[in-house]
Amino acid sequence: MSITADVVDTVLGLRREVAGLHRHLTDYGLVVWTAGNVSARVPGHDLLVIKPSGVAYDDLTPENMVVCDLDGRVVEGEHAPSSDTEAQAYVYRHLPHVGGVVHTHSTFATAWAARGEPVPCVLTMCADEFGGEIPVGPFAIIGDDSIGRGIVETLRGSRSPAVLMRNHGVFTVGPTARAAVKAAVMCEDVARTVHHARALGTPVPIEQSAVDALFDRYQNVYGQR
Ligand SMILES: [Zn+2]
Repeated sequence: MSITADVVDTVLGLRREVAGLHRHLTDYGLVVWTAGNVSARVPGHDLLVIKPSGVAYDDLTPENMVVCDLDGRVVEGEHAPSSDTEAQAYVYRHLPHVGGVVHTHSTFATAWAARGEPVPCVLTMCADEFGGEIPVGPFAIIGDDSIGRGIVETLRGSRSPAVLMRNHGVFTVGPTARAAVKAAVMCEDVARTVHHARALGTPVPIEQSAVDALFDRYQNVYGQR
């Protein structure tokens, strides 16, 4: 596969967008060293744009982003793509509504993942953004489809755009890469607050009908239209 003339401008725009969105991962303290990544689907094409492997956050530029096909093979780029490319390509292949994927090992969310425990829906912002608890996916190691499969199977059974992969970290999805980044930021914020609530007592659950109402309002009414 190669990049056809009709998609050159779109890919250029996504290179800039994906490179720029990585700043939020460092600004919000969601990543250390070179861990974590953002990717975006190239709409209408079996392509994705993703962070290069092992390049420092300060050195990320639109030019060193890597374009891959949805089997994770490099189509355009000087660098090797993120080691999570196969998992993310699997997500794009199996969830057609997903336009962006983010992966982090953000501390509080990953602490829940280490215990294999979903973050319970005890905050209105959790109902808003995640529509319920933040679910846990299976233990899976890099090297085959098992991470991608675990993400897809868990997210298909949930309204949440975030999954805590057991003993590993957070994967989030969204209609755009920016939305997936937002979900990663919110996931860590919710995980941190509920961690503190749990440390000091027993968090109070929110009734399911209220969770449904909050989720519906936030997804359909909230914000600038
Ligand atoms: Zn990871």
